Amino acid sequence: MCVNVVLRGRGDRAMFRAMRAPDTAQDTLAGPDSGPDFRHVRHWIFDLDNTLYDAHCGVFAQIEQRMTDYVANFTGLARDEARALQKSLYRQHGTTLNGMMKLHGIAPDEYLNFVHDIDLSPLSPDAALTAAVTRLPGQRTIFTNGCRHHAARILSRIGLDHLFEAIWDIRTIGFTPKPNAAAYETVVAASGLAPDAAAMFDDIPHNLLAARGLGMTTVWLNTGSDFSDGGPQVAACNGHIDHETDNLTAFLHAIRI
Ligand SMILES: [Mg+2]
Repeated sequence: MCVNVVLRGRGDRAMFRAMRAPDTAQDTLAGPDSGPDFRHVRHWIFDLDNTLYDAHCGVFAQIEQRMTDYVANFTGLARDEARALQKSLYRQHGTTLNGMMKLHGIAPDEYLNFVHDIDLSPLSPDAALTAAVTRLPGQRTIFTNGCRHHAARILSRIGLDHLFEAIWDIRTIGFTPKPNAAAYETVVAASGLAPDAAAMFDDIPHNLLAARGLGMTTVWLNTGSDFSDGGPQVAACNGHIDHETDNLTAFLHAIRI
């Protein structure tokens, strides 16, 4: 596999683009003296869904379908109306679950079990990402608005389950999800990590705001989503995204550590 890397600045954040070429020419990754500088980082925090696996593989699409199914079943709304309600809850409360808990008093365990009951066959072991994460020095943690069971299933499926010391899930943060600052303050206090020695990776730019506010180095995995469903707008996150990449594996291989 050939990986071409282009590094350039844009605005107030460094921009890192990595694009895979279709043939098998020699790897052209930037060397350790020229990649983004992460030598200060000793705690690596990764979002799960759409960050550690391909956002276009259909896995998270299944979860979104199940969220809509749950809302439709619970409210009795037609599916398109349930979808609109689900998106509204997401925008106003951070997650559909948080909105359903606040407005309808649903039981979180039942919801989480339902929406994460999905087919993981689109996923397979990712040797390149495994190698990239393995080289990161210090502690590695998953930080997800999903549940621990789902995270463990995903990590096992892609072959990364042995690489993380902890999984911070929606229960860890008391059902107050990212991007709420309280979620980050909870995990920082519980883990004792130094935010200025931490880096956070997430495909949703708004999830990086509070992390940057605490002093973490932030990396936005740009999956090409335009967030046209009313989700977080990238422009609102200017100044809070230190690095941007569309290829997490190449990025991790290229950084200086
Ligand atoms: Mg995500």
